[in-house]
Amino acid sequence: MQPPLSQPHIQPFFPPQRTLMGPGPSDVYPSVLAACAKPTLGHLDPLFVGMMDEVKQLLQYAFQTRNEMTLAVSAPGSAGMEACFVNLVESGEKVIVCRNGVFGERMRSNVERLGAVAVTVDDDWGKPVDVQKVSDAIKANPDAKFLAFVHAETSTGARSDAKALCALAKEHGLLTIVDTVTALGGIELRVDDWGIDAVYSGSQKCLSCVPGLSPISFSPAAVEKLKTRKSLVQSWFLDQTLVMGYWGNTSGAKRTYHHTAPVNALYALHEALRLLADEGLENAWARHAMLHTELRDGLAALGIEFVVEEKYRLPQLNAVHIPAGVDDAAVRSWLLNDYNLEIGAGLGALAGKAWRIGLMGYGARRENVAVLLGALGEVLK
Ligand SMILES: *Cc1c(COP(=O)(O)O)cnc(C)c1O
Repeated sequence: MQPPLSQPHIQPFFPPQRTLMGPGPSDVYPSVLAACAKPTLGHLDPLFVGMMDEVKQLLQYAFQTRNEMTLAVSAPGSAGMEACFVNLVESGEKVIVCRNGVFGERMRSNVERLGAVAVTVDDDWGKPVDVQKVSDAIKANPDAKFLAFVHAETSTGARSDAKALCALAKEHGLLTIVDTVTALGGIELRVDDWGIDAVYSGSQKCLSCVPGLSPISFSPAAVEKLKTRKSLVQSWFLDQTLVMGYWGNTSGAKRTYHHTAPVNALYALHEALRLLADEGLENAWARHAMLHTELRDGLAALGIEFVVEEKYRLPQLNAVHIPAGVDDAAVRSWLLNDYNLEIGAGLGALAGKAWRIGLMGYGARRENVAVLLGALGEVLK
């Protein structure tokens, strides 16, 4: 037998105030952080349930959708991804999956774990999804039921044409599953107008909320697919037919316990979405675009070049080549330790070759651009 564990004496944790300019989490709005510290209510308290109805209404606005099935999964963006696949895709079904970075590959893995068939359409890292290649794949696979792609590839900073891809899918009767984790709140996204059937996002990117929640929305066609499944949804926790008993299909419906909602995190999401609605979606998109051009011009003056061609660049995720002869890890830890400033490393094919500079939500501010350009200029000297 081992000796009993000794009593630990641990100090409280005091994180420093960093400036988060990586691929997420982004800087959280002060009033969102304050919302987390409000008194916890019971997850079936009528006042809390009323707030959840407002969260749903605010999410419908952010996604630009009238979908009834719109809610926040009580887990990060990756769980929203799983919720879309596990609820809609059944074993043996064919899904066309576009891969132009890390997150498309994760979609493929989700499909395969369900015993479904993934037909991959590959594009180089830093390039958008090629609509023509997707069209060819759909024609070559008339039995495919879904098209899945990432709107804003955070691993590369490339924006794909979600509107054109969804139109193509509709033309051929495919349901669409779209990753908008980094897109939501940062660039134009219109779930209903574009015909997106299942969409998921994350709280910690352009919404500037605390991490750990994943907004999702299913169209009536996606709900129909879910209701007419031949098999049970493999995941109990993510089964939306069960979750809706708690989130409610219609406002005012009686709620039943499914799991204990992350009450305080949902206060935070309510506040973050409220701030977005207050600013106005179009204004938020324009702010991200404007600060991206300021950052771009400042980086150009430092001789730093972008990974992605100008017309496909995401304003909220700026992937840039690390200048020749510069020590990637040393620069990033210098920025972190001396300037309390976090930028992202390259992922996958771009590891060691690129930095990823986020201008997301509350982080998309002129003072952040100035801090980053000043610090990077110093460090590169
Ligand atoms: C961050 C991100 C995810 C995963 O979200 P987590 O909250 O980290 O689970 C998925 N897709 C994209 C495009 C992302 O940027």
